[in-house]
Amino acid sequence: DASMHVRVRLARLGTRYVLLLAEDRTEAFRLDEVRRDFVANVSHELKTPIASVGLLAEALVHAADEPEQVRRFANRLTTESARLGRLTQEIIELSRLQSQEAVAQPELVKIDAVVAAAVDQARIVADANHITIAVGKKSRSEVYGDERLLVVAVHNLIANAVNYSPDGSRVGVGVRRNDGAVEITVTDQGVGIPEADLDRIFERFFRVDQARSRHTGGTGLGLAIVKHVVQNHGGDIRVWSQPGKGSTFTIRLPEAPHPAPAATGDTP
Ligand code: ADP
Repeated sequence: DASMHVRVRLARLGTRYVLLLAEDRTEAFRLDEVRRDFVANVSHELKTPIASVGLLAEALVHAADEPEQVRRFANRLTTESARLGRLTQEIIELSRLQSQEAVAQPELVKIDAVVAAAVDQARIVADANHITIAVGKKSRSEVYGDERLLVVAVHNLIANAVNYSPDGSRVGVGVRRNDGAVEITVTDQGVGIPEADLDRIFERFFRVDQARSRHTGGTGLGLAIVKHVVQNHGGDIRVWSQPGKGSTFTIRLPEAPHPAPAATGDTP
């Protein structure tokens, strides 16, 4: 896209000259556009669950005399409101991440601890679906960043691996150091992603299969959050996938330098 947005101002200099000021507003315009799109997306995505909650509440009132119906509507109301809560939380997280370019106050973070915390959070859902999460050996690697956000990112990948995998399958999580980078890999034996959708899955609210994703309670924001966390840490994310075989997501982050080895005594 080669279009450019320019703000032009004219100033009269005496009677013979006019000064023309042209300001390049392309970047400001682009950011504005991102913000407007986001607000439009969000309102669209909130409409359905809010409408459901309203309808269910109304149905509940009318079903007051039938305990079985009351229970059914109440259960769905609980599910919908939980979804709405999750959606709101993720919208806030994403909008914060989008407005930043880097981590505000980076600290030294141990990646093995990040992986352990993320796996812990995914355990209950994995167990309920008889999915084994296998964690590789410790890497002893560190990065500069925000531990909470890194846990969110790795957890989102593991949660997706679990959500889009059949009962009884295996999810692998590994960390390795490679050429100044730390690579965190999450592999599953799940449904996979069609090639045509591979570069769209990181867009906010994009879902390969709307119906299935709704069923699993997804918001369509998980991978957008992962992408922004990784970018704010100066890293990148890649995906490999084959429909029917499974997917592998790899986050790469710049490794924090290890402390220099202690002096050996041959220094002057
Ligand atoms: P959702 O909340 O729908 O899971 P995400 O942003 O986390 O949203 O993912 C976007 C879409 O990418 C999902 O709806 C799903 O179609 C696809 N996807 C993500 N991770 C996987 C995976 N491990 N296996 C198969 N499909 C996946």
